[in-house]
Amino acid sequence: MTRHYSAFNLLREGLRGHKGWGRAWRSPEPKSAYDIVIIGGGGHGLATAHYLVRNHGITNVAVLEKGWLGGGNTGRNTTVIRSNYFYPESAALYDMSVQLYEGLSRELNYNVMFSQRGMLVTAHSEPDMEMAARQLNAMRLNGVDAELLDADQVRRFEPALNFGPNMRFPIHGGILQKRAGTGRHDAVAWGFARSADAGGVDIIQNCEVNEFIVEAGRCVGVNTSKGEIRADAIGAAVAGHSSALMKKAGVELPINSYALQAFVSEPLKPVLNSVVLCPPFGTYVSQSDKGGLVIGGGLDRVPSYGQRGNMPVQEAVLSGLAEMMPSLSKVKLLRHWAGIVDVTPDSSPIIGPSGLDGLYLDCGWGTGGFKAIPVGGWLLAHLLATGKHHEISRPFDRNRFVSGYLIDEGAASGIAH
Ligand SMILES: Cc1cc2nc3c(=O)[nH]c(=O)nc-3n(C[C@H](O)[C@H](O)[C@H](O)COP(=O)(O)OP(=O)(O)OC[C@H]3O[C@@H](n4cnc5c(N)ncnc54)[C@H](O)[C@@H]3O)c2cc1C
Repeated sequence: MTRHYSAFNLLREGLRGHKGWGRAWRSPEPKSAYDIVIIGGGGHGLATAHYLVRNHGITNVAVLEKGWLGGGNTGRNTTVIRSNYFYPESAALYDMSVQLYEGLSRELNYNVMFSQRGMLVTAHSEPDMEMAARQLNAMRLNGVDAELLDADQVRRFEPALNFGPNMRFPIHGGILQKRAGTGRHDAVAWGFARSADAGGVDIIQNCEVNEFIVEAGRCVGVNTSKGEIRADAIGAAVAGHSSALMKKAGVELPINSYALQAFVSEPLKPVLNSVVLCPPFGTYVSQSDKGGLVIGGGLDRVPSYGQRGNMPVQEAVLSGLAEMMPSLSKVKLLRHWAGIVDVTPDSSPIIGPSGLDGLYLDCGWGTGGFKAIPVGGWLLAHLLATGKHHEISRPFDRNRFVSGYLIDEGAASGIAH
């Protein structure tokens, strides 16, 4: 049985040597059939299961994960949560997610450590400042909080940034989104998993989906490493594996997969107030509650499924950090890793029917789907339960690559995490 713990349990277990903790979720064998099967036990798949129970009362659900929960990008990302996008469709999507994050610890009764410390995107020239003002206006028109800071305000807000006379790209100002911040990635996956399990969902780890069962033009199940499992509707949230897996269902996706790397330093005393992104250096950084700098940059140049770091990207990202904040140039790195991210031509996700009846998609989040875990789960659950788009997911249907109604955030907001 899944248990929920209180402060009293914590005290009691502390006093008796932590002998009484139960499992946070069960480990069942799969049944032969469910109402709904979700492929992928990352944040999006687990959130989908949670919202199927919470919003639609559907509990005969399985989440199939080929490895362990959160072992994909959900457990590998730099945990930035924000909604500083340009287009109204994106603002509606990502701001709904920020709002869901704001209530998530309470909803799940699990501390996801959402810390709204703000995100600062610096501007490094007068034309940059003009673009920042345009972005700010777009954000405000879309109902998203944003402030334009001048150079002095940036200096007061983040004094560790480089304001030296010889800086290659001097700081002219920046955009601050105060409601942005960071969350604890594992806790997001675990909180959704625990809640879904408590609602009756079977979470099945070490269960790889190998093939789709198609009858009369409809997807009616999957063949897995644990046998055949049938379902009325199937959702796939497998991030960097989306195009390869969907090919097995005869569905072509306009997605390329790339390695994206991240770095964590030794712990330092507090030196940063927010998440800072300096676009010309291609580097962003925040400081974890343990004190480590959590550092990220751009994609590897060549598409690949090789889930590991490499030196050229390390050099580019860390030299960017040294220019942003020279005082950090002697800090030691502790860890370095990569995840495989799923990138679409317009840098926006694909949410909707796959083109094969009964099979639905939540993918293409690329470098920015951690922030979207609650909304991705909400929208995929809606599709699986009703067979129809939610008004927020409709613009993100894969048909936009046929109609040409792209949501090109890469061009508009220069997205980065
Ligand atoms: C280094 C890095 C930094 C990032 N930084 C940020 C950030 O700061 N902010 C942000 O918003 N986003 C960020 N992202 C992106 C974000 O992590 C992802 O978009 C998000 O985690 C995707 O979640 P998901 O649940 O869709 O995918 P995942 O967490 O990858 O889960 C997919 C799961 O599907 C499973 N799976 C795959 N194939 C199969 C199969 N055949 N059968 C069964 N299971 C299968 C995988 O094992 C995996 O566990 C970053 C990503 C990386 C790699």
